[in-house]
Amino acid sequence: MVEDVLRIVGEVARVNGISRIDKVNVVIGEYLMVKPSLFEFAFMAAREGTRASGAGLTIETEKVELECPGCRHRYSPQNINFNCPRCSNPNPAIIKGKEMYVKSIEGVDNCG
Ligand SMILES: [Zn+2]
Repeated sequence: MVEDVLRIVGEVARVNGISRIDKVNVVIGEYLMVKPSLFEFAFMAAREGTRASGAGLTIETEKVELECPGCRHRYSPQNINFNCPRCSNPNPAIIKGKEMYVKSIEGVDNCG
């Protein structure tokens, strides 16, 4: 997972002509249940030898948002119970919070 992030970061840096990455902003959906501290630890280890070797990391978490297939109600689960609070449908679709993505990167481009 961290390798994926660094791969994406490397791609973005290449496309934008960034030679040195200073900061990586990542969004992690809560549904993935990734501990930010563990992710950061893995990131720090995996960044060695990449353009992001000196980069800091900012992690934003994204709340889980569900949509009920029965009544189309949209809600955030309050606890481990994901059932729809309106009609008790137990199979909501996860529309937010199950992804991890690189929101932005900051760095120095080749000219600067
Ligand atoms: Zn419902």
